[in-house]
Amino acid sequence: MQRTIFEPEHEQFRDSVRKFMQAEVAPHVDRWREEGMVDREVFLKAGEQGLLCIFGEEKYGGAGIEDMRFDQIIVEENMRHGDIGFYINLHNDLVAPYIHKLGNEEQKARFMPGIISGETILAVAMTEPSTGSDLAGMKTRAVDKGDHWVLNGAKTYISNGILGDLIVVAARTDPDRPHGISLFLVERGMEGFERGRKLDKMGLKSQDTAELFFTDVKVPTANLIGEAGQGFKYLAQMLAQERIIAAIGFMATAQTAFDLTLDYVKERRAFGKPIGAFQNTRFKMAQMRAELDMAQTYVDQCVMLLNDKALSAEDASSAKLLCSELEGRVMDQCVQFHGGAGYMEEYRISRMYTDARISRIFAGTSEIMLEIIGRGLGLDERKLS
Ligand SMILES: Cc1cc2nc3c(=O)[nH]c(=O)nc-3n(C[C@H](O)[C@H](O)[C@H](O)COP(=O)(O)OP(=O)(O)OC[C@H]3O[C@@H](n4cnc5c(N)ncnc54)[C@H](O)[C@@H]3O)c2cc1C
Repeated sequence: MQRTIFEPEHEQFRDSVRKFMQAEVAPHVDRWREEGMVDREVFLKAGEQGLLCIFGEEKYGGAGIEDMRFDQIIVEENMRHGDIGFYINLHNDLVAPYIHKLGNEEQKARFMPGIISGETILAVAMTEPSTGSDLAGMKTRAVDKGDHWVLNGAKTYISNGILGDLIVVAARTDPDRPHGISLFLVERGMEGFERGRKLDKMGLKSQDTAELFFTDVKVPTANLIGEAGQGFKYLAQMLAQERIIAAIGFMATAQTAFDLTLDYVKERRAFGKPIGAFQNTRFKMAQMRAELDMAQTYVDQCVMLLNDKALSAEDASSAKLLCSELEGRVMDQCVQFHGGAGYMEEYRISRMYTDARISRIFAGTSEIMLEIIGRGLGLDERKLS
């Protein structure tokens, strides 16, 4: 279906991003998958190309353009022509906004230039070994010592966990309040901040997912984001954008898998004809086409609402839920159409299938998305009982 949200300047931008992904990302994918992470240099190159934090203020090297369609294009082109392990969207859209939108002038001046140039790679650390969905159960603690905080605890499953230079870390600062959480900027090299294992995963092989440990880390007061104790409010403010960016990625990988498979079913022959000539194939491809077009239209609408600051948490959760579930179904069907080849690592569809399994788990599981949408309907257990 024709998409209607893009202007000519977006299409031009898409061409340049595609060329960048084809030249600077795609040639390295196999090596990065073997090494378990991308090269730091790809962030620098993306910075040179102006692909990091387009929304960043001009005085810090950004373009000052607050238009989510540009971010959407970067994600779409990276998923199709680059590498899902190059987590540019985590850097740009999930972590940088904590500094760009919530940071004070001193923090922005200190950190945004490196973030926009790609010298400073970003990560966000919320999940802990004993808690993920239930962030109120967080055990990492920070204690106020006047001019600094002392941070202790452990985080796990952190994307860009090895490459990350600047980590937004959520920690409990008020032991008496379940939501008494604050956000801190923890920098590479701070004493007591250690990386643990780079974790082996089912998919996303070129993405460094790691454990982080904090032992009596002295975090200067100047590295507290916003106000102490307001961390939950800040996380909630960022989640709608995080979930739309996630949904954009899920749609891009599902669309790519569909296109690969459409080519495949036209070529591959069985019983004297292309497998695409069987009614089963035609119907299932048609069903996927229709569902992809519907979901894409919804996501595009969410992007425009986000641009207008009118996207609700429930809308974003619906997009994250439905696009990840659709992506999962599409990947499974596309592997099926590839037959045995679909199970072979050398076929891209096989890797895409395992990469996609995380989509229903991170950035909030499908069950948590249903909780948010359900509560938005007034069906809140705490209020009804
Ligand atoms: C590859 C990867 C990258 C990640 N990157 C990051 C990152 O960069 N930063 C970060 O902080 N975290 C990251 N995570 C963590 C991720 O966000 C969590 O794994 C996710 O939120 C789920 O938390 P959990 O693993 O603790 O599962 P749990 O919360 O233990 O959930 C287990 C199951 O219980 C269900 N469940 C939980 N609560 C409810 C409920 N109320 N109602 C119904 N069902 C429920 C869940 O839906 C799930 O099915 C990453 C994880 C992975 C695997």
